[in-house]
Amino acid sequence: MPKPDFWNNSKRHYDFKSFLINKFGCKVYKLQIDAGFTCPNRDGTLSTGGCAYCNDRGSRLRQQGPLPSVSEQIERGKKYYIKHRKAAKFIAYFQTFTNTYGPYEKLKSLYDEALAQDDVAGLSVGTRPDCVPDKVIDLFEEYAKDYHVWVEYGLQSIHEKTLKSINRGHGFETFLDAVRRTAGRNINICTHIIVGLPGETRKDILETARVVAGLPINGIKIHLLLALKGTVIGDLYEKGEIRMMEKEEYVSTVCDILEILPPEMVIQRLTADGYRDIYLAPQWGINKMDVLNSIDKELERRDSYQGVNFKKES
Ligand code: SF4
Repeated sequence: MPKPDFWNNSKRHYDFKSFLINKFGCKVYKLQIDAGFTCPNRDGTLSTGGCAYCNDRGSRLRQQGPLPSVSEQIERGKKYYIKHRKAAKFIAYFQTFTNTYGPYEKLKSLYDEALAQDDVAGLSVGTRPDCVPDKVIDLFEEYAKDYHVWVEYGLQSIHEKTLKSINRGHGFETFLDAVRRTAGRNINICTHIIVGLPGETRKDILETARVVAGLPINGIKIHLLLALKGTVIGDLYEKGEIRMMEKEEYVSTVCDILEILPPEMVIQRLTADGYRDIYLAPQWGINKMDVLNSIDKELERRDSYQGVNFKKES
């Protein structure tokens, strides 16, 4: 398979930055918003512990006192990206915890506030697949008539044993149900997967990639499993009860995943970020640029691209 022309980039995968430039004809940046949501997997509705890799502190902003309003956060983010990145348009990204976990009227008013800001051309909402009632999906569809809309569903793995062991609080079927209810409505779906989860083999991880490749999903975030202080994974790491991935293993697994995914699936992320003050391992994961460069180099070494092993189901 030759490299697809529509990527219009110099990379071996279809990155989000290029996708947005292709779509809007200018630089577009996502502005992270913490709207003060919590999560049913933390507030006692499903559990109080959260997912095994998740630290409960939320955004850095939340540590500093009362949260600024959505419009203030957007204004602040815009100033930064206009000055440092020459950004022209923005996507309001409701990122922290579960951003559809609240009464419909509250959700609508927060999203409306974000979309009313100058130069905000889109909305992206991160959530859990068990937290999206049809009425909220209808709202996203309504926004999608005028804006570029993404909903991000955390999946992490298709394997029930893994989902149980990391305390996700939902199964794979719940994810499929959310995707089915969202697809075909002009709403872009992004999913998150984690590479390096305890008990998973490379075969397990690639099975997850193959299944995601066959679903009506438009984008993906691939995360490296991090051990962070204040998480179950972090505790297991400190007790020496868990093995974190080596860099070479991660890089080569991510390249295998990229080869399996369809060429048109937008890659929103290829590794993970973690706050330095709570970061435990793997040490090599802190150097994000090095990880990204190593993935590029490995694809170059293979003379390979995203999508070379993608198989369309007939
Ligand atoms: S669903 Fe998200 S916010 Fe909630 S505990 Fe899991 S990772 Fe954390």
